[in-house]
Amino acid sequence: MQGVGFRPYIYRLATERKLTGTITNTPSGVTMEVQGTRESVDDFVSCLAHGAPPLARITDMSVRDLPCNGDREFRIIASQRGEAVHTLISPDVATCDDCLRELLEPGDRRFRYPFINCTNCGPRFTIVRDIPYDRPRTSMAVFPMCAACQAEYDNPLNRRFHAQPNACWDCGPQLELWDRNGKVIDASDPITECAAALKAGLIVAMKGLGGFHLAADATNPAAVALLRERKRRVEKPFAVMVPSVEIAKEFCEIGAEEHRALMSIQRPIVLLQRKSASEVAEQVAPFNRYLGLFLPYTPLQHLLLAEGGFKALVMTSGNLSEEPIAIDNDEARSRLNGLADYFLVHNREILLRCDDSVVQVSPASFANLATPLRPLRSKAFNRKDREDCARDAKKIQQLRRSRGFVPVPVFLREEVPSILAVGGELKNTVCLAKGKHAFLSQHIGDLENLESYKFFEEAIEHLQTILEIKPEAIAYDLHPDYFSTKWALQQTGVPLIAVQHHHAHIASCMAENHLDGTVIGFALDGTGYGSDGNIWGGEVLIATYKDFKRTAHFEYVPVPGGAAAIREPWRMAVSYLAHHFGRDFLKMNLPFIAALERSNLTLLLQMLDRRVNSPLTSSCGRLFDAVAALVGIRDSVNYEAQAAIELEMAITGGDGISYPLELAEESNDWIIGTRSLFGAVIRDLATNTPAGIISARFHNGLVDTFVRLADHLRDRTQLNRVCLSGGTLNNLYLAEHLRRQLEENGFDVYTQSEVPCGDGGLSLGQAAVASHRLAESRIK
Ligand SMILES: [Zn+2]
Ligand SMILES: [Zn+2]
Ligand SMILES: [Zn+2]
Repeated sequence: MQGVGFRPYIYRLATERKLTGTITNTPSGVTMEVQGTRESVDDFVSCLAHGAPPLARITDMSVRDLPCNGDREFRIIASQRGEAVHTLISPDVATCDDCLRELLEPGDRRFRYPFINCTNCGPRFTIVRDIPYDRPRTSMAVFPMCAACQAEYDNPLNRRFHAQPNACWDCGPQLELWDRNGKVIDASDPITECAAALKAGLIVAMKGLGGFHLAADATNPAAVALLRERKRRVEKPFAVMVPSVEIAKEFCEIGAEEHRALMSIQRPIVLLQRKSASEVAEQVAPFNRYLGLFLPYTPLQHLLLAEGGFKALVMTSGNLSEEPIAIDNDEARSRLNGLADYFLVHNREILLRCDDSVVQVSPASFANLATPLRPLRSKAFNRKDREDCARDAKKIQQLRRSRGFVPVPVFLREEVPSILAVGGELKNTVCLAKGKHAFLSQHIGDLENLESYKFFEEAIEHLQTILEIKPEAIAYDLHPDYFSTKWALQQTGVPLIAVQHHHAHIASCMAENHLDGTVIGFALDGTGYGSDGNIWGGEVLIATYKDFKRTAHFEYVPVPGGAAAIREPWRMAVSYLAHHFGRDFLKMNLPFIAALERSNLTLLLQMLDRRVNSPLTSSCGRLFDAVAALVGIRDSVNYEAQAAIELEMAITGGDGISYPLELAEESNDWIIGTRSLFGAVIRDLATNTPAGIISARFHNGLVDTFVRLADHLRDRTQLNRVCLSGGTLNNLYLAEHLRRQLEENGFDVYTQSEVPCGDGGLSLGQAAVASHRLAESRIK
């Protein structure tokens, strides 16, 4: 990667060993030539990988002997335009320990300078205008370095050698404080004033690395409520920034893997199981067992947290509900007007918006949860199983792959042609693939408003520029109404390749795990356009990259009102009940039915009878919605998948019981029937079984059925590899139990961790499918 201090590192390594020679960036990567005694050269090569700077990633290395050429010193040869492009651009990285020490050191010339950075840390991706990555082509171009900064920049032994954003109080960006109307306030120390405002329960818009945050004191319920009201965000959890892992431990359960995730240089938001009593206000994440915590990653954030002595600050994207995050000062002044009481801004431009990343840690066991994993059955594991299990025991799962991770590529198993894949509709990302690299864009979001659509176009444009990739084909989702699909269909001059949604999910999982050949794929999610025009979402595929056969799915039920049913899960509950029990369900003595608003119910039943605006679905997400509504967890939702999430959260002490589901074979396909499942839920409701038990039995029923299905498919096809993908697999209880049970039955199970298993990972799968189809069409 460029600008991560690799060349100075090599310079030091070589000169310490009295080696002479050169290092330079070339189109194929970094090339070094070193001369010296055999022992020194061997030592150089063997040490090379160990002490490399944190951001360097050596993917491949080859060594060969050359005749001596009489070099007398070790030199770094400057890269020329057009030469360095094949080294990768680094993501934005959290403030390193060395910079942090200088930041808080009263004698240091950068004491309390909010933009301190070095080759090991600071902004990268978000300040790059063009390549090669050099100061004039970044938003630092307008800040000529002072003599002291320039000397650091020019010295190969300095930590700031070629650190493009290098700056100080004398030459670099500066803070400014604005009032709620965007008027400059003459403040002696903007950070002190902001800390005071936050302490008083006010809301501050702060310019960060990839966009503005809205900050509020997370321990002050009134401040959090005020933020919710102004941001028009109901119930959807807020992320919370805490000053240290020690404080994080006061609020949440944190094991070694969670600790590592919090402290990683990417500083993602980590979803953590919250402790029952904590100072964080309930309104931060209502009805949720988890809290999204992250540590400060810019000098400004460090200073603010320290200044106010804050234990927890809500730090949420600076936007109104689902719009993209604001990045520009003027844009913030207008778009965040009325949301913030103060604006803490600066004059270093953010060239590309990049939201905070969100990850969760998939637990090795559910020992910390109310419901432990059911004990493994007696079948002994072989050694490989054990090793695989240990390796996979705890895995980071990406929920939103953005700041800190982008634009690091996903490394592919084999070379692919240049492909642009435009992703789905919700949680959109795009992917540019070339050679053995698949570059996923930052999180673009839901393409449902003009702002997001503009961001989508910008992201495509910018990625193509900095990666110098001109696509030979464009891949898109089958859904005719997706904005991404409509955009793709307007492009001319390259082949356009449509990829079915769930096929893309499975291909994404295959690509990330470097699989080839044919796999059994479970694609479980809320919504995806099916090849038959129905809404799919509980699909079992036999898939290769090029193609797939749908071999099992949930039985179809109508979705009364379409999108309205996604917002109002009670509609799905009624749909399932009417589907399975006709009008008889109205006579059932259930709290859910008693509570239904009669006129709404009548309308809905008419809609179902006449099949008006009631597309058919096999969606797993809608099944979760129906069960959640039926057990009284939620009739309507305030954010995507809320009912399903709260159904998972509700699980309390399971008793090993699983609800039954039917597997019916129909002309070589399996239909997963849900009638007996609903029958069992209704019986349990009638005997006042708690929702937590019903939820556990429901989850266990799904796991058992999927495992049974996988067994049938293995008998029929001899396939032993199972890929799990789709947004429903963000449900840790389901994902973990399913993985364990499948492994127990001898399957090789593959899940996603590098890219999201939800729709944020679709673009990778689309690119993988398109590259194989393109290769095939060229052979013909
Ligand atoms: Zn640093
Ligand atoms: Zn300076
Ligand atoms: Zn999906």
